[in-house]
Amino acid sequence: MNTIPLKYLELLACPKCFGTLQPHQDDLVCKKCQRTYPVVDGIPILLVKEDLDASTQTSANSWDQFWDHWGMHKEGEVEKHPYYSKVLEHIRAHGPEGDWGVFLELGCGNGALSLGVAKSRQVPVVGIDFSLGACRGAKKYFEQEGVDGFFVVGDIQRLPFKEKVFGYIFAGGSLEHFTDTSVGVNEAYRVCQEEGKIYASVPGITLTTLTVYQTWGNIPELPLLRPLAEWFHIKVLKSRHMKYGYEKSFTHKGFAKYFARAGFGDFRFGLFDYNREMHLLPFAWMKKTANWILSIPLFWPMFYLDAKRD
Ligand SMILES: [Zn+2]
Repeated sequence: MNTIPLKYLELLACPKCFGTLQPHQDDLVCKKCQRTYPVVDGIPILLVKEDLDASTQTSANSWDQFWDHWGMHKEGEVEKHPYYSKVLEHIRAHGPEGDWGVFLELGCGNGALSLGVAKSRQVPVVGIDFSLGACRGAKKYFEQEGVDGFFVVGDIQRLPFKEKVFGYIFAGGSLEHFTDTSVGVNEAYRVCQEEGKIYASVPGITLTTLTVYQTWGNIPELPLLRPLAEWFHIKVLKSRHMKYGYEKSFTHKGFAKYFARAGFGDFRFGLFDYNREMHLLPFAWMKKTANWILSIPLFWPMFYLDAKRD
């Protein structure tokens, strides 16, 4: 069944020209530029593949495989999951006061967090990811739990949505994966409603990202370090170890600058704490010690920014 409910169809726009999309047989067609987009299992593929930059294309392929092999949690398990439940607390605590409007998750992956939002807030939930495997998994989750939600395959740098349609945008570990961060942030601003909020978490520049994160090629966004890290990880090592694709880390100020330039205001920062599972460490005391070390700000690898559109 490829029918897209009207309340979701109304949010969509052609990623090429932002024209209105209308259903035609099994596809969506842009009224303005006539471009056709397929809908697969109820998931619109609103991606212009040739417009993706090379790093996004590489990441899309590796994440597709990742999500295709990902095992689902059982019904009701997500909210109890140590990692997801903690992040859900963050999302709830930083949402707009009053009505959230439509919730958007940028880089939704398997949709576990969106599911938590849909179940606890009764708001329309939309997830976007450049991997069809991820969107399929997310859709399965929502069906398993009998919750309403909508997933779109698309590019964060070219959001296939109309202007000012979302009241709350969550970007958990997604905005760091682009060489030019401003493109995605400007897009988030375009689709955010007035008085709407964004909550984003990214790696910060700390002792952990400067050491441990280098094993998968994290790029610290600092004047001399960035070109050096890009030269080493991409040119010398040919990106082979960059298992999360292209990934940057930021200073609070550096990250906030993108949001200020886009038009957001009212910034708040904090440590993005979540329960690390530390799979690689064999003993409970080791996991405990590692978690304790990481709780020191100098080491803490992730931070959040929360901002508002005036
Ligand atoms: Zn168009």
